[in-house]
Amino acid sequence: MMEKFKKNKFLVFVVLIYLVLFITSTEKAVLSVKNSGYYIKEMLMIMPVVFLLTSLIEAWVPKKVIMENLGDESGLKGPLISILFGSVSAGPIYAAFPVCKTLLKKGASISNIVVILSAWAVIKVPMLANEAKFLSPKFMATRWILTTISILIMGYIISKVVKREDIPMEGEEIEEDTILIKEEYCIGCGICEKLASEYFRVENKKAIVINNNIGNGVENKVQKAKEKCPANAIQIGTVKRTKEKHSAKTIKEV
Ligand code: SF4
Repeated sequence: MMEKFKKNKFLVFVVLIYLVLFITSTEKAVLSVKNSGYYIKEMLMIMPVVFLLTSLIEAWVPKKVIMENLGDESGLKGPLISILFGSVSAGPIYAAFPVCKTLLKKGASISNIVVILSAWAVIKVPMLANEAKFLSPKFMATRWILTTISILIMGYIISKVVKREDIPMEGEEIEEDTILIKEEYCIGCGICEKLASEYFRVENKKAIVINNNIGNGVENKVQKAKEKCPANAIQIGTVKRTKEKHSAKTIKEV
């Protein structure tokens, strides 16, 4: 029970404030509950769409594409795409957080995430159109230029202060090269052990992998063992692991 309280201390704190408010000023408490209800309703209408969007990014947009266009090495393209993405997005700013977290997991840089969030919050296209209508196009254009410059500077500063490791990334998937042996194919000839004894050993007439710690980049001798295996029993592929559990989920031959 205490553990649950600790995990949800903010929620407990808010409920306590409501209770105190109900006792001290019932009218204000009722008004607050009504306002909260309005925002909860709004969130319930928006969040399913946001979760659908994050799932689509997760499942359909390859990590490589995100890294090339929004990653640390994306150059000028990254901030430009980020400004565009943030500016044309719809919905309140809290909808941007899950989307940005997914992009971050897929390799977007911190500075580009700051740019997306900030553009989403303050230079969205419908906002600019209204601003031009009510406060003049000159006002809107000047604010847009200055805000955009500030956003870019802010992205740079935040990326220097906040590191990727500072952001909790439970369940982040990483890809690693790995070696697998199809046991049912192996005839125990020992060729793999001869060619790459640091990686393979034959026990009870079956080869086993004794070192799967190959990181990214397969050594030539492992590749050679794979090619020379007469039973085609050696697979080299990528394995997806979740960062915190470090358990293999899927394997894809390369
Ligand atoms: S070379 Fe292939 S068949 Fe021979 S022991 Fe190794 S995995 Fe098995």
